Amino acid sequence: MKNRSLVISLVVLLLLSAVLVRGSWPRPSTESNDPQTKSGAPLSAPLVGDFRPEQAPRDMIPKPELGALTRVVSTRVSAAKKDPQKLSGAPVAAPSAVTPADTLFRAVKVDPKVPLPAASFALRQVRLLPGPFKEAMERDRKYMLSLDNDRLLHSFRLTAGLPSSAKPYGGWEKPDGELRGHTMGHYLSACAFMYAGTGDTEIKSRADALVAELAKCQQALGPRGYLSAFPEEFFDRVEATRAVWAPYYTIHKIMAGLVDWYENGGNAQSLEVAEKMAGWIKLRTDKSDPRHMERVLNNTEQGGMCEVLANLYSLTGKSEYLKLARRFDEQHYIVPLSQYRDVLKGEHVNSFIPNIIGAAREYEMTGDPGLYNIASYFWRQVTGARSYATGGTSNGEAWRQDPYVMASELGADSHESCCTYNMLKLTRHLFNWEARAAYADYYERALFNGILSTQNPADGMMMYYVPMMPGMYKTFMTPEDSFWCCTGTGMENHAKYGDSIYFHGPDSIYVNLFIASELTWPEKGLSLRQETNFPEEQGTRLTISVAQPVKLALNLRIPGWIARGGFVKINGRKIEAFAEPSSYLTLRRTWKSGDKVELALPMDLRLDRLPDDPKIAAILYGPIVLGGELGTEGMTPDKTSGAYGPEGPQGAPVAVPKFRVPGNDLNAWIKPVAGKALTFQTAGAGQPKDVTLIPFYKLFGERYSIYWTILLPGQEEAKPNPRRR
Ligand SMILES: [Zn+2]
Repeated sequence: MKNRSLVISLVVLLLLSAVLVRGSWPRPSTESNDPQTKSGAPLSAPLVGDFRPEQAPRDMIPKPELGALTRVVSTRVSAAKKDPQKLSGAPVAAPSAVTPADTLFRAVKVDPKVPLPAASFALRQVRLLPGPFKEAMERDRKYMLSLDNDRLLHSFRLTAGLPSSAKPYGGWEKPDGELRGHTMGHYLSACAFMYAGTGDTEIKSRADALVAELAKCQQALGPRGYLSAFPEEFFDRVEATRAVWAPYYTIHKIMAGLVDWYENGGNAQSLEVAEKMAGWIKLRTDKSDPRHMERVLNNTEQGGMCEVLANLYSLTGKSEYLKLARRFDEQHYIVPLSQYRDVLKGEHVNSFIPNIIGAAREYEMTGDPGLYNIASYFWRQVTGARSYATGGTSNGEAWRQDPYVMASELGADSHESCCTYNMLKLTRHLFNWEARAAYADYYERALFNGILSTQNPADGMMMYYVPMMPGMYKTFMTPEDSFWCCTGTGMENHAKYGDSIYFHGPDSIYVNLFIASELTWPEKGLSLRQETNFPEEQGTRLTISVAQPVKLALNLRIPGWIARGGFVKINGRKIEAFAEPSSYLTLRRTWKSGDKVELALPMDLRLDRLPDDPKIAAILYGPIVLGGELGTEGMTPDKTSGAYGPEGPQGAPVAVPKFRVPGNDLNAWIKPVAGKALTFQTAGAGQPKDVTLIPFYKLFGERYSIYWTILLPGQEEAKPNPRRR
């Protein structure tokens, strides 16, 4: 079985190598591909609710005008800025302990030049409480602790001419794999997030030890600062535009890991190694004029080089890193987007998104409004015109169609997990800038349905593709012989659930996600405990603890999906005010210890129809995508483990029932199953049979469908169920 899956893995790896070398995708024509002229479809995203400026809390900045975006609002930066800078040796919190203010290490030296009405809290300020996200985080921690430092370091040491007797890992980390070493970067990032979110000292000592060993490898590789698990010769190939997998992509992961570990682990050596790598990048790219640099970038997947270098600028205040970041601005991506042209068709999705995250970070550090336009237009196009009900995007690694063409895109190889990871990262930036509930609506939907759904609760293994093809099934990595891109971003995903639950203004808190957790805000002497069993419970409860009464606006997200009957209570008393769907309910008052807020968020059933074939729809309950249980026919461990997706000759879908329904009232044919939370049964509509529907994030070990053909009386299918890859 192992040999067989190895052969399959090799074949798939070869195929994927070809795909990941971005030149393999046909370049789109630069002629007008404007979605407005082509499809006539609206730009507003059907996936998320409309933004209504009048619903915005009064202290937030409304939908930005260009002029407003360039204003520098220094008062909006966190009060933590006043804390003395503390580098290594900063005391760290014990597991699950509240971090006191004076131990906070603030790594940032240069704050964004643009207003951030909804700034992020440091990840260490949020602790998850028991619930599905905490469970996923614990499984992730267990997997991370099962990995071995010496094995992760093996190819780094050999490349540096240092001895290693460790058994190398397999998959994309194989000693002759061209992407070897990328997992090191993801692992350091995941350690950074896991340590920040749990205070686990075992994670800390592993990451510290890795950084010390990487520093030795870097030193052995010479004074230029090069550090990688493959030889520098790969960059000769990049510069000569010869075939090579993605060396800058890998360098980005390693640097991002080092930077994340510096920021969250307070390890000064980690920053030192990253800065030396940046020095090497300068030497390497100084040889290229902008035209050659563009050719180099067109020839390779660069990951988020521009992002990590802009982060390095923020952390050090050294402007040469910002200059270096902008060297990686790929005109091919940014020029059409800055002109609001959707030329995404044919592009490799996971190459594309990190460039836009980089543009977003550069916008923050430069204030260049053109970069804002790029990020915001791109986000609208992807979430509105190219995403599935789950919030995921991509089909066979690419966007293969014009905007709003989705019916043909329900593939077995659709919805790469890394793409969701990257879209969430981008969404965080946009939320920081605009504080719009619509961004949080998307974030919630993609987090539950596109991220939580990708980790197997049985063993913590994670997914690459998330098939949208009806009748398919989930496949997972193996612990030691996969190490795909989605293994790396997967480790990060489940370590950082705390990073987008809460945001803040100078005197306000945004509660964006209904995840059981505790926030501490030492500068305000405040902690906020959120207790909920959401989504099994349709609401949440917040309890405030303060050193002394504090005046604060509490902005509660009223989701775009809310059904009738929502309300809020303060200290047991129902108040009259509420807010529209996809906006914020602002509770502005002086809060005292023990104050309690209860928020009721009723859910109901709804459909998310495909834009180009509205007879095909996903069924949601609140924000939760429901998957239909379709049995285990043909599913054996060799097909579900160690495979990117359900590919190959056995990868055929099973037949999927269609629904003939009496009318538009979903409650007439989708009935809750008594005693089982979030579980439904179709009644008399399924042909040839009815189906049990459960949350997609809980659907494992079984074939499923998310998309269904739903026919009203007199309607017929326009065409057979799309079954194309
Ligand atoms: Zn991936």
